[in-house]
Amino acid sequence: MKTEMDTTVFGLQIDRLKKIYGERFYPDARVTAIYAWAKNMPLEKFSKIIDDAIANIPNSKPPMLADLKEIFPKYNEVRTATQPRCKCCHDRGQFMALSKSNPNDPMAAEDFACPYCEAGKSQRHLKYWQEHDAEKYTPSFTLRNLVKSVFKSVEPNQQTEEV
Ligand SMILES: [Zn+2]
Repeated sequence: MKTEMDTTVFGLQIDRLKKIYGERFYPDARVTAIYAWAKNMPLEKFSKIIDDAIANIPNSKPPMLADLKEIFPKYNEVRTATQPRCKCCHDRGQFMALSKSNPNDPMAAEDFACPYCEAGKSQRHLKYWQEHDAEKYTPSFTLRNLVKSVFKSVEPNQQTEEV
């Protein structure tokens, strides 16, 4: 099965839209615009976006490029379907930490750059999590039951188990 996007596999996905919403809503100019937007994404992701559009958008409202773009962020994680490498941030490079004194207030939560992986090093707008921050904050990875022992055992230079 093809996983790369090209005009043929792209066309098959557009045919699914045409079949349900009507061919006239997808003239060449519009299809070209959609292709320009979609051509660099994996086919799997594009077909999920089309699945989602078909499942959720009524027949009376043919999905346009703007609708597909709106669906797009939901499938951003497709690439990381395999095991994430960083136990602390799941390769996002950052994680949230709840305030210990005010754990129910999302405004009191902070985002920290992950100090334990490569992804974290590219975070320039956040401050790095440091041990002493644990006095005031509970990081989300401990909330995910990846208990403190994991946190302590991950050294700054330990990157991947499966290089
Ligand atoms: Zn990390």
